[in-house]
Amino acid sequence: MTKVLQAIKGMNDILPGSVPRKDKLPDSALWHWFESTVRSVLARYGYQYILTPIVEPTALFVRGLGEVTDIVEKEMYSFTDSMNGDQLTLRPEATAGIVRAMVEHNALYNGPLRLWTMGAMFRHERPQKGRYRQFHQLDVEALGFAGPDVDAEIILMVRRLWKELGLVEGQHVRLELNSLGQPSERAAHRSALVAYFEANSALLDDDAKRRLHSNPLRILDTKNPAMQPLVEAAPKLMDFLGEETLAHFNAVRAILDAAGLEYRVNPRLVRGMDYYNLTVFEWVTDHLGSQGTVCGGGRYDGLIAQLGGKSAPAVGFGLGIERLLLLIQELGLPVPNGAPDAYAVIPDAAGLPKAMRAIEALRAEGVSVQMHAGGGNFKAQFKKADTSGARYALVFGGDELARGTVSVKALRDASVAQVERPLDAVPEWASTLTCSSRDA
Ligand code: ATP
Ligand code: MG
Repeated sequence: MTKVLQAIKGMNDILPGSVPRKDKLPDSALWHWFESTVRSVLARYGYQYILTPIVEPTALFVRGLGEVTDIVEKEMYSFTDSMNGDQLTLRPEATAGIVRAMVEHNALYNGPLRLWTMGAMFRHERPQKGRYRQFHQLDVEALGFAGPDVDAEIILMVRRLWKELGLVEGQHVRLELNSLGQPSERAAHRSALVAYFEANSALLDDDAKRRLHSNPLRILDTKNPAMQPLVEAAPKLMDFLGEETLAHFNAVRAILDAAGLEYRVNPRLVRGMDYYNLTVFEWVTDHLGSQGTVCGGGRYDGLIAQLGGKSAPAVGFGLGIERLLLLIQELGLPVPNGAPDAYAVIPDAAGLPKAMRAIEALRAEGVSVQMHAGGGNFKAQFKKADTSGARYALVFGGDELARGTVSVKALRDASVAQVERPLDAVPEWASTLTCSSRDA
């Protein structure tokens, strides 16, 4: 027997809800609803859509994200193009590709740009709930803006998205904010940190000793309880931030405060990529276990020049779609189920021409109608109508068609009486089949 092939571990199919699956991953109706909500929200902020390739030169990510980041050190799917020997990588994130495209097309020549994209990213991680090898991000980038106005605007835009998706800020998701300062401020902090740990070298564990000169900041992440007092008292980056950096940070905060958005300043908040400076933020949740960050971003004023473009400031974020939809599912928020308004039952094939003409007329009025195709008796068709999740069955029986009508039967509400509607006046009654809220 031929062996059945399976998807690669950590790479998931996104399926309609009618397909049973063992894992509890969100179905495609949820994705669809998320995507249309995103489109609507981003349009209100003047963001334009962009698509860039999934495969990029490996050098783009090595140069863009930094050589000693988790992603570049161990998470990239990289391969050699067997046709020409080029080193290529499946994108692990979207910012580097978008910046590459903007530099390549000299796109900032006419001024700043607000851009967004959505799509698959690839990281070789250990698959678990909320962590996959192919996952999807909404990615938003504001290029050529120095902030702090845009920093605050994109944070408020994410808040608007939460609102439209039914998530309550402060309860389901909350904002953490920090400033990473400028590279020179970070370097001064790093020197002070190394000096401090050197002066206390007797208190360092083996891990910390190893990191002291390669990556002293990582010592601050230690899980060793014995090291906590030492780490707590270590020099803080905040104390090395200059006047301009603080003014930027305070300006962002003032806008968020005025907008009534609550947040926590988290001095420990750092981001995975090297390119960040000044404002960084994360939207986190307590409802997803250890995969609690649903959205993370910040300012990256150095990246455009680092990738060969004319120096320009920028800010952006990535939002993990799987994590967000898992959260919405976990919270049991009302979501659309993807069911059609109506299911058309056509027990006699002789009725097809008239029935399908009427169904087309309904669709022209914006009604979603799933037509029973493939024949079968009334009972079998009616059963399908029920399992489709549709709110109405449209019965195009022989008697009805002879009278020039269709029977409309409510499937979810027994108190609604069955009615007969005229086929030659579809526009007059079509709207009774649709309802503004498609909640499950
Ligand atoms: P984490 O600390 O969870 O590994 P990260 O800092 O690597 O996250 P970013 O690079 O900032 O993540 O990506 C932005 C968002 O994309 C994350 O906040 C998360 O929601 C999502 N994300 C990142 N990696 C994965 C993954 N392997 N599977 C699913 N979602 C992911
Ligand atoms: Mg990661």
